[in-house]
Amino acid sequence: MIDTHCHIDNPAFNEDRLAVIQRAKEAGVKHLVVPGLTLQRFTGLLDVADTDIHLALGLHPLFLNQHPNNAIEQLYRWVNKVNPIAIGEIGLDFREPKQNHQKQQELFEAQLQLAKEKSIPVLIHAVKAHDKVITTLKKTKLQFGGIIHSFNGSLQQAEKYITMGFLLGFGGVVTHNRATKIQKIAASVADTALVLESDAPDLPPAGFINRRNEPKNLPIVVETLAGLRGISKAHIIKKTSSNAMKLLGICNEWKWTV
Ligand SMILES: [Zn+2]
Repeated sequence: MIDTHCHIDNPAFNEDRLAVIQRAKEAGVKHLVVPGLTLQRFTGLLDVADTDIHLALGLHPLFLNQHPNNAIEQLYRWVNKVNPIAIGEIGLDFREPKQNHQKQQELFEAQLQLAKEKSIPVLIHAVKAHDKVITTLKKTKLQFGGIIHSFNGSLQQAEKYITMGFLLGFGGVVTHNRATKIQKIAASVADTALVLESDAPDLPPAGFINRRNEPKNLPIVVETLAGLRGISKAHIIKKTSSNAMKLLGICNEWKWTV
């Protein structure tokens, strides 16, 4: 399995990070993708990078007040130095007050431009802003698309993303009984669009409410997706892994196992 979105650099893992990674491996989660949030946290991000722990770099829309005026310039320097597998986590979150939306949009567009220049995919955070994200992506025309992390839009929006070459990340949210809307989408979209994610330490799956989430919980998401789609867990694992691998270019053949 590939966890396409986890914040293993989060201080919540400071006490037992290596054990968390070990537990993930034992559960069959062989690769972790760790997106960046702020410049301040990039150094910590580099510390967790490993052959199976892959970094993305980006400036998150919910941390606007932590991004300095020259943040994009600094991000370019980091990206040139680190060669991340994607630009992320970037996007729009319109739960934020309206006066922040324009700033989020400018930050988002500048980072899409960076992804385009580097010819790498993007990891997108979109909440209550899917139509705007879709229009912006249409305008930018990235070469490689990306992943809509913890997808939470409508089926129609899902289809629009997929048509543009984007994958949809499903995690803990889909495992909850009340998540009927997202479950319907997870049951019906093409299997070429599915990827797994934990979003650890956030968004724990059913049975782990109010607890720190870990990548090792990914099999619970697999079980839910397999049930919803009426196919085997092995098929979900194989398909989501190859989708992620194809997009993110994560693995060399020789070390690739699901
Ligand atoms: Zn995230």
